Amino acid sequence: MSDVTVDLLVVGAGPVGLYGAFYAGLRGLRVALVDSLSEAGGQVAALYPEKLIYDIAALPAVKGRDLVRSLVEQAAPYDPVYLLGQEARTFERQADGTCVVTTSAGTTVRCGAVVVTGGIGTFTPRPLPAGTGHLGRGLAYFVPDPSAHAGADVVVVGGGDSALDWALMLEPIASSVTLVHRRKEFRAHAATVAAAHASRVRIVTDAQVSGLHGDPVLEHAVITVDGGAEQVVPCSAVIAALGFKANLGPLRDWGAELHDNRHLVVDSSMRTNVPGLYAAGDITDYEGKVRLISVGFGEVATAVNNAAVFLDPGAALFPGHSSDLDTPALVPA
Ligand SMILES: Cc1cc2nc3c(=O)[nH]c(=O)nc-3n(C[C@H](O)[C@H](O)[C@H](O)COP(=O)(O)OP(=O)(O)OC[C@H]3O[C@@H](n4cnc5c(N)ncnc54)[C@H](O)[C@@H]3O)c2cc1C
Repeated sequence: MSDVTVDLLVVGAGPVGLYGAFYAGLRGLRVALVDSLSEAGGQVAALYPEKLIYDIAALPAVKGRDLVRSLVEQAAPYDPVYLLGQEARTFERQADGTCVVTTSAGTTVRCGAVVVTGGIGTFTPRPLPAGTGHLGRGLAYFVPDPSAHAGADVVVVGGGDSALDWALMLEPIASSVTLVHRRKEFRAHAATVAAAHASRVRIVTDAQVSGLHGDPVLEHAVITVDGGAEQVVPCSAVIAALGFKANLGPLRDWGAELHDNRHLVVDSSMRTNVPGLYAAGDITDYEGKVRLISVGFGEVATAVNNAAVFLDPGAALFPGHSSDLDTPALVPA
């Protein structure tokens, strides 16, 4: 249990929430970000960190992972409080105007306003099949730091882009990489599949991981191929890239008007119908909404500037030009 007091809470540390944290800092607001995932970056980090993105302004091509790293760096001078691995559960606006948000980890955040950048909602990683016996040893759903797997025997499970991307990324540094997929056909991009076939990655299709063994550390995996044949492969880490389920979850009950039961309706100031509650990014809905990162960046700047005026009615809505600032913390090293 802990208490955090800030001016602004951003719910969701996806690309839009991260940019919102930077913007809050620019406006002189103390900011916290809460995300149910253990890593910042939202869909970009969870679903396509190794893909190139071509439609971010001024970046002709940027890898998802690098975009997230740059957003975290851009916000860093303002020292946002990161509450990762915690789902924001309840929202209440008290009589004195304080917004109180509680999280699944027992954190209570008190703030003057909240910007919800919850995207498609809380992601829950799809688990390995029951009975695998992984007990959490060596099991991961992300690869935030590939070097952590240097020299390891890694088993990647899944057939989508993330699974193949992780496998190809780890292939040059791991001792061995085995990719296990329950079908023959992969959902990943054809070029990525071809690259995996041409690499050192050992591909086992029509198969499932049926057992993970080793105590206290993982030592080998049992792979059962359709028809019953078993293969035992060395394994010190399993990357379960089986996808994520997403659900708007508790945000549905915060009193904001919903569209399709999945999106929060906002006006042109990115205000919901609840005083002090703003929204931006994929989670918002209004006529003509386009769900892209570039659009979310603009929306969250609007949301934060309007929240700044909500917090201090004497403040100007227009933040001024950042190029007029003389803030050493903002000048890249
Ligand atoms: C495969 C793929 C490729 C894509 N390619 C592109 C592209 O090339 N260009 C482009 O512009 N867009 C692309 N997109 C879309 C883009 O990823 C989204 O528009 C963008 O991620 C939206 O950002 P966001 O911050 O609004 O939401 P998200 O990225 O969804 O982040 C929301 C975050 O909020 C968290 N969250 C939700 N509810 C809670 C809660 N109650 N408590 C705590 N945390 C919560 C989630 O865990 C998540 O981390 C792509 C999407 C996919 C799936």
